[in-house]
Amino acid sequence: MNTSSITLPVTPYTRFRTTLDQTIERLGLCSEEIAFLSQPQHVHRCELTLVKDDGSEAIFPAFRVQFNNARGPYKGGIRFHPDANEEEVKALAALMGIKTALADIPFGGAKGGVQCDPKKLTRRELEELSRAYVRAFINILGPYRDCAAPDVNTNPDIMAWMRDEYERKQDVYAPGFITGKPLSYGGIPGRDTATARGGFFILEELVNFSALNPTELRVVIQGFGNAGAHMALFLHRAGYNVVAVSDSQGGIYSPDGIDPFRIQKYKKHTGSVTGEYCKGSVCDIEKMKLDHVQRVTNEELLELPCDILIPAALDNVITEENAARIEAKYVLELANGPTTPEADALLDVRGVMVIPDVLANAGGVVVSYFEWAQGRSGRQWTTEQVKEDLRRIMLAAFTAVRHEAQRHRISYRQAAFSVGVQRMLETMRKRGWV
Ligand code: NAD
Repeated sequence: MNTSSITLPVTPYTRFRTTLDQTIERLGLCSEEIAFLSQPQHVHRCELTLVKDDGSEAIFPAFRVQFNNARGPYKGGIRFHPDANEEEVKALAALMGIKTALADIPFGGAKGGVQCDPKKLTRRELEELSRAYVRAFINILGPYRDCAAPDVNTNPDIMAWMRDEYERKQDVYAPGFITGKPLSYGGIPGRDTATARGGFFILEELVNFSALNPTELRVVIQGFGNAGAHMALFLHRAGYNVVAVSDSQGGIYSPDGIDPFRIQKYKKHTGSVTGEYCKGSVCDIEKMKLDHVQRVTNEELLELPCDILIPAALDNVITEENAARIEAKYVLELANGPTTPEADALLDVRGVMVIPDVLANAGGVVVSYFEWAQGRSGRQWTTEQVKEDLRRIMLAAFTAVRHEAQRHRISYRQAAFSVGVQRMLETMRKRGWV
């Protein structure tokens, strides 16, 4: 069989390894250092048994991968998803290690997952599964050992059940056990907007030092969830021209600019960003013409004329196939892994500046760190403190990446890995690990 034409899927781990390998080669690391950077310290797996509401039993594979704790307790979210698997969780744990080091916060990298479809579980079943996860991994989790957080399909309610389970089983008060909790149970203000706000701070800085005028910049955003919608609102408020947004059902585009506040209002009522104009596939064409609005697919959206493209939904959306048609001059990766390594190389050659995920979306884990610190100190943070400290940390990380990129004439992604890896190695050497 001729296999030369078969394109293997880009997995999160191949994406991670591509950039890590480039970093390893450039920094000339030894085999001991490479082993620490490329392999997790611990991979924990188990099967969770859930007694469902109808009395039947269901079994769900569950994972916790602890990649590296050189710089502090392991840190990373727990996702509930039918496709969650060990390879994916491993790659996401590795990326968390780079992200926390790059942000210079005292954590390592970890990730967790349960292979399940939470949409098919009742609230009681979801609670029971969340508590079962904590019981299964209770000996390897903890505020100073491994601090979990929300990820895909997990939320503040689930974090509250998990904290409660840990505190009951260990008979301790442990607000630092987990982050992303509800405000009334140890949460921190601004966690919901943290990822978008962190990305926004970086974009603002980029625009300032490039002497650009926000009002002349057209922005396209894919994804109108937590990350994408908040970003659209921040940008609109700051005078940027948000020309297109989308969700899983497609997007809308207007060269004149759209108002994300209105989009959000209609999405709340209709469930879709096209809701002001369309009911399902039936659209009010006259109204669309009047407002200079067009409907676009998610694929078309990425190729629209714009200055800044913000993927904030899925991974692997910018590929070898469409990279040459991306018109944006800047890509800010709010989503994890939206650009394949091949597309990354093509964008680099074309001079498109990509602000990589490990930097662009680090705001979430930075505010998680504040929440963890709040739990340790017992002192409640204010929204203003969160914003101010988030800004300081994001800009410090961005400056470090910018200088590294300029010094070595490398892409921002390679520079971000380079800074993160060097920080991890510095601590490992101090600790005598390598
Ligand atoms: P979310 O579930 O709140 O929103 C996801 C959005 O993507 C929704 O609007 C959904 O409709 C849209 N979407 C789904 N399928 C789509 C498709 N095929 N085409 C276009 N849009 C589609 O998720 P989120 O928290 O906003 O996360 C989005 C991305 O950002 C993910 O990659 C996530 O890993 C990353 N991220 C989020 C955070 C955070 O704090 N929320 C932190 C770091 C990274």
